[in-house]
Amino acid sequence: MTALLEVHDVAKTFGEFTALAGVSMSVEEGQAVGLVGPNGSGKTTLINVLSGVYKPTRGTVRLRGRDVTGLASHRLCALGVNRTFQVPRPLAGLTVAENIALVKAGRRAGATADLDVLDFVGLTHVAARRVSALTSGEQKLLDLARALAARPDVLFVDELGAGLSPSELDHVAALLRALRDRGVSLVVVEHLMGFLEQVVDHVVVLNAGAPIFEGSLRAAVADPHVIEVFLGVRA
Ligand code: ADP
Ligand code: MG
Repeated sequence: MTALLEVHDVAKTFGEFTALAGVSMSVEEGQAVGLVGPNGSGKTTLINVLSGVYKPTRGTVRLRGRDVTGLASHRLCALGVNRTFQVPRPLAGLTVAENIALVKAGRRAGATADLDVLDFVGLTHVAARRVSALTSGEQKLLDLARALAARPDVLFVDELGAGLSPSELDHVAALLRALRDRGVSLVVVEHLMGFLEQVVDHVVVLNAGAPIFEGSLRAAVADPHVIEVFLGVRA
């Protein structure tokens, strides 16, 4: 069976520096995969490559079997690939509703085609508010709504939980589960294991730009090499 997204030996260098040393992973239709690893291990760079911000130095990316390596963000978006940003960059002078209206849904179908994205994330009550007046948690939800407005089939979620309160985290975890249940495939970058276990069953662990573990979250947190990489000590 062909996976929805197949990443083969993707590398990315910045000058002399190797940010991704050859990452292979696949995401099945409707699967939620966690992407974890210490700061600087290449998680955001991988998302940047897979969402068309950077072209990989090496390797291939296939979407439904089609080679999409190096396609620009807007082309990938039109094919159903979108992402949230670790640091959201909404147009702060515009309202919440205006930020969403700017997203070209491309009129693609997709599992979230019928979704009122502001209602889904719980921001309808602030739709007329300027983004600059939102809390940081609300700005994160807006970024999720913005990404969903493009009706992705694959969504990369980069530390959406960072800085949220426990109740906001539960809300975001429930939203991601609801998306997965609709058939949206997710790649979720998150440090908070309690959050991840609510959303994903499978994780890829990166260290220094290379995968060091792939399997269940439960097995990952018990793996001596993973523990060593995270805590800097041998288990
Ligand atoms: P993570 O998201 O896992 O914390 P990143 O993917 O953001 O890590 O970064 C991985 C490494 O690549 C870091 O050392 C970072 O400094 C470097 N890096 C990321 N983007 C660039 C860039 N545009 N130019 C140079 N180095 C970069
Ligand atoms: Mg990052």
